[in-house]
Amino acid sequence: MQFRSTQSHDPLVSFKDAVLRCLPQDGGLYVPAAVPDMRQFFLYMDAGTSYPELVAAIAPVLLQGELNPFSASRVAESAFDFEPELKQLDENFSLLTLYNGPTGVFKDFGIAFLAAVMEELLKNNGRAMILSASRGDTGASIARAFYQRQNITAVILYPSGGPIRGLKPETFVPQGGNIIPIQVRGTFDDCQRLIAETIMDVPFAERYGITSANAINPGRLLPQTFYYLYAFIKIKKYLKGDLIFSVPSGNFGNLIAGLYAWKFGMPVNGFIAAMNANNAFGDFIQGKTFIPRSLVYTNSPALDVSRPSNYERLVAFYQEAPAVMRNMVYPAAISNEATLSSMERIWKRYRVLSDPHTAVAFAAAEQLAFSKNFGGHVHVVTLATGHPAKLPNFVEKTTGQRVDVPEKLAGLWEKADPIALIGPHLDALEGAIASCF
Ligand SMILES: *Cc1c(COP(=O)(O)O)cnc(C)c1O
Repeated sequence: MQFRSTQSHDPLVSFKDAVLRCLPQDGGLYVPAAVPDMRQFFLYMDAGTSYPELVAAIAPVLLQGELNPFSASRVAESAFDFEPELKQLDENFSLLTLYNGPTGVFKDFGIAFLAAVMEELLKNNGRAMILSASRGDTGASIARAFYQRQNITAVILYPSGGPIRGLKPETFVPQGGNIIPIQVRGTFDDCQRLIAETIMDVPFAERYGITSANAINPGRLLPQTFYYLYAFIKIKKYLKGDLIFSVPSGNFGNLIAGLYAWKFGMPVNGFIAAMNANNAFGDFIQGKTFIPRSLVYTNSPALDVSRPSNYERLVAFYQEAPAVMRNMVYPAAISNEATLSSMERIWKRYRVLSDPHTAVAFAAAEQLAFSKNFGGHVHVVTLATGHPAKLPNFVEKTTGQRVDVPEKLAGLWEKADPIALIGPHLDALEGAIASCF
C-alpha cells in the first residue's frame, strides 16, 4: 500500500517513508493511495483467530513488498501481549474493549504496533528518533512501547504545569536507555508546534532520522483498522441485522480507521461519530460547512477537541463519495448528564463498569438502535476506549462501585523528572536533543 498527501499530487511514498517522515512537505497528511480488498482474508478467519494471528495475516497483505509474513509475525508477537476483547451485552449491543494495554487506552494498540514495525523496518538500515507530545498517559505508552527498540530513540515533550507520569528513570538515555523526556515551558500546543518545526528543519531532522509518533503517523493509524476486523470476525457468526460501530470521537483517528477498514472490504453498515458538547464537526458529517467552535470542558476530556487533527483525512475521504458517506456516518452529541446516566445504565443492566468516553458512545448507540430507522434490527458495537480505573470518581459516583486498578496500570501514577527543562523554542529543543549524544 502506498500513501499520498492530502494536499498535492506529489509522488506516492511507501509505508516506510510515510512512517519515517510522517509529515509531507506540502503541509498535508498521508492517506492510503489505493486500498487493497482484504475480504477473502477476514471472511475466512473465524472467532478462533487470535489477535496476533490476525495482525500477522493482514499486515503483510496490506504492506505487500514491505513487510513479509515472517516479519509481520515478529511484529505482531512483539507488539501485542494484550488483545482487544469483544463482550456481547445483548442482542443489540456489544462492547469492543480496547483498554487492556499498558496504559489502559486504545492508543496503546497503535503505539505498540508503530514501535514494533519501525524496529522491523529499520533492521540493518539506519536509525530513527520519534518525537511526541504528551499531557496524559500517551508519554507512558510511548515509553513502554519504544523502550529497548533497536536503533530508535523516543523523545517525549511535556508541557509545564502537568506532571510527568508513568515513566521509569532507568529507561532514560543518561541511564543507558533510549527514552528522553523533556519538559517545555509552555502549553501542549507549543509542544506540538515544536515537533512540526523540528520535522521541517530538514538538516537536523535528517541527522537524527526524526519523525513524529503522534496520532497522525500512518504507522499508528493503520493498525487501528485491525481491531475493527477482529471485532467483525468475532461477531459475524451471530450477526442477524445491520452492523454499526459507535466510536467516541475527539481527533477522529478511530473513526477514520473504521472507515479504512470498511474500504478494505469489512461488511459494515455504518459508524456513529459519538461526540460530547464539542460537536461542531457533526455539521461537516451532515454536509454543512465545518466552523470550529471554542472548546467546552466536559466529563469526557479526551473528546474535548475543537478542530480534529484528522480533519484533512476526513475531507479527503468524503471527497471521494460524499453521498455514500452521508449514509455511513451518523453524528451524535451526548451531554454530560446523559454520559453519567449512560454509565449508570451500563452497570445496572449489564454489570459492566465503563469510562465516560465509552459511555458517550454507548448512549449514542442506544439512540440509534432504538430509532425508527432500525427498529431493533441492528447490532451496535461500541468501542470501549478507556479503562474505568482511569477516571474512578465518575464510576463511583454513577455506580457506587470502587474500581480495582489492574496491576499493570499501577505504575502510571508515579511521577518522574524530565532530563531537560527548556523554553518553547526550536533551538532549545534541538540543543537538548544534541546534548544527549
Ligand atoms: C484519545 C481518546 C479518544 C478519542 O479518540 P480519537 O481517535 O482522537 O477520536 C476516546 N477515548 C479515549 C479514552 C481516548 O483516550
